[in-house]
Amino acid sequence: MDIEEFLTGGKLRRITRWGEDVMHAKTRPVTEFDEELHTLIRDMFTTMADSHGVGLAATQVGVDLAVFIYDCPDADDVYHHGIVCNPEVKLPEGDKRNFESTEEGCLSLPGAYQPLARPDKATVSGQDPWGNPVTVEGTGLLARCFQHETDHLNGTVFGDRLSTRLRRKLYAQAEELAHLYPSDWPLTPRATSADG
Ligand code: ZN
Repeated sequence: MDIEEFLTGGKLRRITRWGEDVMHAKTRPVTEFDEELHTLIRDMFTTMADSHGVGLAATQVGVDLAVFIYDCPDADDVYHHGIVCNPEVKLPEGDKRNFESTEEGCLSLPGAYQPLARPDKATVSGQDPWGNPVTVEGTGLLARCFQHETDHLNGTVFGDRLSTRLRRKLYAQAEELAHLYPSDWPLTPRATSADG
């Protein structure tokens, strides 16, 4: 059982946007670790690679199931990839919790970034695509990714965690770049900036 089989050969799917219902509701737990789930995961990897993401939740391809994938560097710039079904995030407590404020973005609000403080370490536990338990520790961007994607599966987008002022800036930025992203992106590719 090797997750490599999910990394290629999927079908590109449209990425859902903030404001669509599926993005703002809690997902159903994964209970069937079957071919349908595996097809979804394979399609998610293809869609994430095509849109240059480091993480993707099932809700971002319009499916209300608690599963996310990642291909993301940690604090030492080492890339890790994987799949977590039914994720739960554990954050360091007390003195061990250290917040890092870094620009965060989301494929479901493409092109916009704002700084958000999050703990710089996170441990995610859940199940692999066959239903076996998995636990992964993340640092740096990987820790941020685990928190961001698990949020998605609980119906939370990172804009919900921003101050009103930064949220306004985020939406203004997204608005400015909206013409670059067709509504069915990445099925229709992103326009180049040269197109205006
Ligand atoms: Zn996101």
